[in-house]
Amino acid sequence: MTPFSYRCTDCGRTYSRDEVRYLCPECGKGYHPGIPLLGVLEAVFDYDAIHRAFDRANPDWNLFCPVEKEFHPPIPVGNTPLGRVDRLGNELGLDSLWVKNDGLNPSGSLKDRASFLVVAEARRLGIDLIVAASTGNAASALAAVCASTGTKALIFVPEKAPKAKLVQMVLYGATVVPIKGTYDDAFALSLEYTAKRGGLNRNTAYHPLTIEGKKTAGLEIWAQLGFQVPEAIFVSVGDGVILGGVHKAFVDLHRAGLIDRLPRLIGVQAESSDAIHRYVQTGKYADAANPVTRADSISVTCPSNAHGARRAILDSRGLTLTVTDEEILSAQALMAGCTGIFTEPAGATALAGLIKLQASPDQFSSAAPVVVLATGHGLKDVEAPLSRISIPPAVEPSLASLPL
Ligand SMILES: *Cc1c(COP(=O)(O)O)cnc(C)c1O
Ligand SMILES: [Zn+2]
Repeated sequence: MTPFSYRCTDCGRTYSRDEVRYLCPECGKGYHPGIPLLGVLEAVFDYDAIHRAFDRANPDWNLFCPVEKEFHPPIPVGNTPLGRVDRLGNELGLDSLWVKNDGLNPSGSLKDRASFLVVAEARRLGIDLIVAASTGNAASALAAVCASTGTKALIFVPEKAPKAKLVQMVLYGATVVPIKGTYDDAFALSLEYTAKRGGLNRNTAYHPLTIEGKKTAGLEIWAQLGFQVPEAIFVSVGDGVILGGVHKAFVDLHRAGLIDRLPRLIGVQAESSDAIHRYVQTGKYADAANPVTRADSISVTCPSNAHGARRAILDSRGLTLTVTDEEILSAQALMAGCTGIFTEPAGATALAGLIKLQASPDQFSSAAPVVVLATGHGLKDVEAPLSRISIPPAVEPSLASLPL
């Protein structure tokens, strides 16, 4: 670990590590559930110390980590494979297309990275209950990491979460409370719970270490490309915290003098869950009116990290776009059929964005290394792809009855 302090991303005030827990005490006064978070904190490290200590031949990633190693949960999270996908690249006119398969985390999604760090922080603070609201994956991730440490997890989820995710949470031993309402309702209830009854709140972006945890995906991409910055990284966007975390990775590397530019971050949203996309386009924030999409993990009315996500897009000279459910499910099938990677609809949303861009004047040139982040495992929601494929009927076990 390198010494760090927290800085408010809105007003710039800085705080020592234990002076604050969630939002900036000043800017957070203006926050109430139902609007994007205000006063989100970012960890600011001693970048000279990182610069001096970082060694590419033997990288110590703990230099970038804001919780001491002794508190890390005993469950391997991250270090997921980044593979070049030439068959998919050929389809899209790209010579250097890569997929980072974060569905291979223990609970099957990138959310494990955020939960890992928040559970580490709870252990440092001696807190034995962690509370979260989630569309599904953040809760499965929290439950999995808590299972490895024996920490209690209390989880509020919308009752419509895909079954596999609910099964995971319960099996991992979390206390699961399905809410008759949306993810946004669950988010508000979990804040009220920790404010009045205690426990550490893991809500995305509200706890600053969720962003730091998701950052590790970006650090790994840089290292796995041989310490090169890709031209662009495609990220599916719900609350905008994965996007913010990947951005923070490259900001940290840049501040430490280890890279000289940022990758362009391309945020992809589902058509009906497009609050961040519209915010980037117009500069004015408005909720998504009716976020109904099969990509349940990115279905959000009011994205927690809307302000941070917009800054990340602008700072990296990136862009946002939206895709339809049809495009998402077709991208999911294309990825499965051309790479062997089965990612859930929210994971395939990033690829759907790339497919759409490659068919437009904004397409990337063939030589540029482009990375698609596949954020969750396809087995978490088999109902979604079943809507557009059919399983062949059974035949008699004889050569004569084979349909081919
Ligand atoms: C949470 C999640 C996302 C979106 O991440 P945000 O930080 O909410 O933008 C994308 N894909 C999957 C599989 C997720 O679980
Ligand atoms: Zn502030």
